[in-house]
Amino acid sequence: TTSIGGIDAARIAELREAEAVAFRQARPKSMAKVGNGLPGFFGGVPMHWMADWPTPFPILVGSAEGATITDVDGNRLDDFCLGDTGSMFGHSPPPVARAIRAQAGRGLTYMLPSEDALAIGPLLQQRFGLPFWQIATTATDANRFALRVARAVTGREKILVFNGCYHGSVDETMVRLVRGRPANRPGLAGEFRDLTRATEIIEFNDLPALEATLRNRDIACVITEPVLTNSCMVLPERGFHDALRRLTQAAGTLLLIDETHTISTGPGGYTKTFGLEPDLFVLGKPIAGGVPASVWGMSEDVATRYGAYIRTKEPGYSGMGTTLSANPLQFAAMRATLEEVMTDENYVHMDRLARRLDAGLTAVIDRYRLPWHVARVGARVEFICAPGPLRNGGEAEAAHAPDLEAAIHVALVNRGVLIAPFHNMMLLSPVTSAAQVNRLITAFAAVAARLTA
Ligand code: PMP
Repeated sequence: TTSIGGIDAARIAELREAEAVAFRQARPKSMAKVGNGLPGFFGGVPMHWMADWPTPFPILVGSAEGATITDVDGNRLDDFCLGDTGSMFGHSPPPVARAIRAQAGRGLTYMLPSEDALAIGPLLQQRFGLPFWQIATTATDANRFALRVARAVTGREKILVFNGCYHGSVDETMVRLVRGRPANRPGLAGEFRDLTRATEIIEFNDLPALEATLRNRDIACVITEPVLTNSCMVLPERGFHDALRRLTQAAGTLLLIDETHTISTGPGGYTKTFGLEPDLFVLGKPIAGGVPASVWGMSEDVATRYGAYIRTKEPGYSGMGTTLSANPLQFAAMRATLEEVMTDENYVHMDRLARRLDAGLTAVIDRYRLPWHVARVGARVEFICAPGPLRNGGEAEAAHAPDLEAAIHVALVNRGVLIAPFHNMMLLSPVTSAAQVNRLITAFAAVAARLTA
């Protein structure tokens, strides 16, 4: 019989079926409302990803508070998905909720600054170390805008990405190595261009390939997460970031660090904790505590060059805005998040729980002799149903076990625990409790026992 991640495929199928039944049984109200999809929406969901969760139908949320989600049937879930990072500081953090309530009576968008914006610029400078910032609404947009600046100031068209990367729905990053060859990412809808024409792609941690690709001096920018978190979890090898910085600098190539997920590392992200020196910096998702917002920053040098570039242009259109970006609701929520939520004390708590979870899951994997491993960057933990560590996106893709992961995901939901869909990511928030972590470890052990019995 075939085995996936060391587990018999028939056993995985059997677990999946049993857990789907249990999921439905616990949710009669939800099933009546969304069992056949939400009316009026294409594909039965307001956003297509909601249909991609491995549960038989989407969890219909009644409310969320702290690190707990309650569905309309009254099932409570310890939430380690946390909106896939958008709520990584907990649902509706009280300072953010207060700021939103206060701003609600003062107007929600005006294409003009409010006094909260005065506070935010210096807060971003101090925290992340870059001198010049802009606000956008999604990490996708922040990345798109930063890449435009990179092309503008270098006068180069190409960018370089690492295989397995994800930076949002930024078209030019949607490239993969398929059997070792660059190709448009499989599954892209409506993409008629050959994206590999202007996007170079190599494996993460591959310094010889990096050196060889940068040598032509035709790459505007390398865009990367400090740790690949969107294809399982791939950590940088010792010396990788130093070499990446040295080689890009030598080639006149800018370095864009996307901290959207690795902000789990510490209050200043992986960049601050490990002393990275990016030219461009992006952070989206949780930066305003769950209100859609993102920031992107530039070094002094990039800002000077971009200023000079702008002066050569017709005034007006830069291609780098959206109307609702930098609105006063974002300012209020972002200020509250930076000042009162993304604090050192909160990160200490998050990190302590993440270590506990890492150790607990690892102990379960050892106890059941599973060929799996756990990876972690600060408060972000991932179990991977393959041996590790993974060195790059190619290895991560091979390690991915969708059927097994789907079975585990639903089995955990049925035991009161929600982790991220599509991979096995868990976030520890400032309001997550040790009891919740213990429940997750216990549930994981129960599922491991079931899979190996
Ligand atoms: N950058 C990274 C590293 C991400 O993981 C994501 C989303 N998973 C994005 C950017 C895009 O964020 P958004 O969907 O909010 O635009």
